Amino acid sequence: MDKEKIEEFRQILIERRGAILAEAEKTVSGLTDGKENFPDPTDRATVEWDRNFTLRIRDRERKLLKKIDEALGRIENGVFGICDDCGEEIGEARLKARPVTTQCIDCQTAAEAREKARGV
Ligand SMILES: [Zn+2]
Repeated sequence: MDKEKIEEFRQILIERRGAILAEAEKTVSGLTDGKENFPDPTDRATVEWDRNFTLRIRDRERKLLKKIDEALGRIENGVFGICDDCGEEIGEARLKARPVTTQCIDCQTAAEAREKARGV
């Protein structure tokens, strides 16, 4: 892949990273704005549910952030867009849809088939 395209992906990744961080910050301030002082137990249950939901999302965000950092690391190391499994170049359309991916479509399909076979 040429440098210009890599740079494009780098910008996409940095942008996503910023968006996730901004969203995470909003979540954190949402958790601490004192909304949990509801006298009504029904409301309290809703708040609890909301909080569990929020924490789950944050877990997902954390994982995604890690993947984005790893992708940025691959760009630094000059191995971005190369499949971890077979060493072939990952298709550009696939990278555009999912820039954090580390497998080409063939390897991912094969991995998913293996997982299915194991019943995971
Ligand atoms: Zn592959």
